[in-house]
Amino acid sequence: MKFGRRQWVITISLVGALIVGVGAGFGVWLFTQTAGATAEFSAAVTGAREANGERNRAALELNETRAEALARHTAALALVAATEPSVLDDAATREGLSESAASLANTAGLQTADGESARLPDPLLVTRAPRLAGTSFEMPGNRDTKREATTELQRETAALVDESHRLHALTSDIDDALSALTAAEDTLMASAYAKGQTTELPELAADDTKDAYAAAVTALSSYEEGADLVALITTYTRALAAAITSAEEAVRAQDPASVEPSYIRGILVVNKTYGLPSWFGDGLTAETTAAFDRMRADAASAGHELYISSGFRSYGSQESIYNRYVAADGQAEADRYSARPGHSEHQSGLTFDLNCICEAFGHQADGQWVADNAHRYGFIVRYPQAKEQVTGYIWEPWHLRYLGIDVATDVFQSGLTLEEYLGVTSKYSN
Ligand SMILES: [Zn+2]
Repeated sequence: MKFGRRQWVITISLVGALIVGVGAGFGVWLFTQTAGATAEFSAAVTGAREANGERNRAALELNETRAEALARHTAALALVAATEPSVLDDAATREGLSESAASLANTAGLQTADGESARLPDPLLVTRAPRLAGTSFEMPGNRDTKREATTELQRETAALVDESHRLHALTSDIDDALSALTAAEDTLMASAYAKGQTTELPELAADDTKDAYAAAVTALSSYEEGADLVALITTYTRALAAAITSAEEAVRAQDPASVEPSYIRGILVVNKTYGLPSWFGDGLTAETTAAFDRMRADAASAGHELYISSGFRSYGSQESIYNRYVAADGQAEADRYSARPGHSEHQSGLTFDLNCICEAFGHQADGQWVADNAHRYGFIVRYPQAKEQVTGYIWEPWHLRYLGIDVATDVFQSGLTLEEYLGVTSKYSN
């Protein structure tokens, strides 16, 4: 068949339609492909941003956990340092805390090689979004570049997700180490509490030190989370030491041989505050006797007869005298005129009573001569009138104390008692 015009027109039309159809189909296909790449790129951008946000949150959380770890590590080391093994029921609990602290430091990366605590990096462990810093979120121009950019973003997203997991895992490890540290601290405190409860304080410890100790021990078992454990342990340790010290003092006070003689400005002071050891003294000193002999001779020349009615008294003899007075008058009254053993000036060997041991002696010519002249021989009337609140004793015009001429004269001229002259008290401690 020969192609006529009509056939050509049909053929060309068909071919044209085919071309248009194919072209349109290709156009639609092309359009679909490009739209897909755009959507994928947008999804990749969203995914990357979310992964980045999650990574930053994980980094922030890790940083906060590390900061907590640093603070807790420091506190744990202080607690170890403040805890004497002797105040623990089980000394190994202190080692356990020490090890937990070291483990925490390792896990949280707190220690440098030489064991010094490292500064935390600031402000974030991972700076904000470094991986995406150079990434453009602008829609690339054509399909291929869109696909390339999409692939790149997906790769970055996967890396960010990995990093998030790593940061979360590290945070979780540090949290575990923190929990272990808390457990080790609790174990240490429980050990201190157990020791505190089973420790028997010495019977002689003062009551207030016993009360303070009991309160400090109770506090070891009833603290709240976040309590200052160093303060609790320190208070407990000090309370124990205070109770022991107080008991030791009580033992010393009960042992009359262990008292130390007190010399104040070179002067041996014996009164209600200052005692003598039980072994002290073996008679009037040679100086005292010689000074008395001179005084007696001069007094005799002036028509006064002086004699020693009571000289040196040992601890033992004072003890029986005092106990006799206490039995007769009661302790409060006996303390006004008689010294407790170890507190009698007569034990010093520097003291004696003259003539009549009676208030009348102070009104007699003999006693008045003594009051006016004793200092010239090195003596003072030790317990003057109206000074009981200072000396601890009623007026004893008969009781002389040897101080040597210079000091006795100085005290006499000052008009003061020996306590006032030296600035000391005269009071029993119980
Ligand atoms: Zn006396």
